[in-house]
Amino acid sequence: MPSYRELLAQVKAEIDEVDAAQARELHEAAEPPLFLDVREDGEWDEGGIPGAVHIPRGNLESRVESAAPDRARPIVVYCAVGARSAFAAKSLGELGYENVVSLAGGYTEWKRNGFPTQLPATLDPEKRARYSRHLLIPEVGVEGQLKLLESRVLLIGAGGLGSPASLYLAAAGVGRLGIVDDDRVDASNLQRQIAHSTERLGEWKADSAKRTLEALNPDVEVVTYKERLNSENVDRILADGWDVILDGADNFPTRYLVNDASVFHGIPVVHGSIYRFEGQVTVFKPHEGPCYRCLFPQPPPPELAPSCAEGGVLGVLPGIIGSLQANEVLKLLMGIGEPLVGRLLLFDALATEFSDVTLRRDPNCPVCGEHPTITEYIDYIQFCAAGSAGGKAAGARP
Ligand SMILES: [Zn+2]
Repeated sequence: MPSYRELLAQVKAEIDEVDAAQARELHEAAEPPLFLDVREDGEWDEGGIPGAVHIPRGNLESRVESAAPDRARPIVVYCAVGARSAFAAKSLGELGYENVVSLAGGYTEWKRNGFPTQLPATLDPEKRARYSRHLLIPEVGVEGQLKLLESRVLLIGAGGLGSPASLYLAAAGVGRLGIVDDDRVDASNLQRQIAHSTERLGEWKADSAKRTLEALNPDVEVVTYKERLNSENVDRILADGWDVILDGADNFPTRYLVNDASVFHGIPVVHGSIYRFEGQVTVFKPHEGPCYRCLFPQPPPPELAPSCAEGGVLGVLPGIIGSLQANEVLKLLMGIGEPLVGRLLLFDALATEFSDVTLRRDPNCPVCGEHPTITEYIDYIQFCAAGSAGGKAAGARP
């Protein structure tokens, strides 16, 4: 049985090392390698190499793939003195990383040379208190919370699905929420649209939701768009920069518009829909899974379209489906778990049953396929014109 020293010497013989001066040169290069800090949280909090990614040694194998998906990108791994990083470099080699070096002498040697250091972004005491239940989860932690605080989510609709989804996203500390909704609060909304209240009757839903969300969490900035999403405004609204779109609109014209915009802009959509006792959730992640048009290339002709009149819905159902959508959004933002890409989750409230269906990409899809035929937005505005409900109902939110 080798002693620790012998084992360390053996590992060091199997890996490549650089000294602090060489590491500095790599750090200054036009295309610097990834600097990976494998020290513990407390050490990292006191400062590290600028731009470094922090994964404590104990979590290295489980987390490195999401931090460094490209195994060909060179990595400089470091710890305090170069021992833990030597073992880490060996593990990374075994995981298929092709070009890994360990910083001999570690961060101590780097600092001794007077090379630049940086305090990591961190949370102030108020945020530590507010998000303490997130910080206790290793998969979230300070890093995940910082990601959420820097994230931007666009909600289409502040109705049944948008209400619970936006409340949970705001509570979780998603830094910027955009709300697109051109409707006002109506008494018939209050059976399920919990972002609004009786005293807000007649107010813009976007404004009402903004008040509710900002009262819940002042860390969150809410941007409102009191307009119906259409081919004219969609690019302007998306240009404000969003990481994920949460589609709670549940009507054909908006669904196709959001889908095409998502593919054109490369922004994932978390889709939800509800009817009576049944709900559905899926994630359309452009080019990684199917898009809505892979499944339904065109909307049905108006005579075959489902009624545009408001459908009934059990009040709590949007709460369940909207919360599932918020869950998918949080996972996408933090890069954790398995999002519902290529899977449609179905919920039956009467039977209390979940089931899921696999969805596949269509290589001939008119928008995300190999030879797309749809390259501009289409407004399906006449969609409901045949019915007496007219345009208003086309935008009705569940
Ligand atoms: Zn597609």
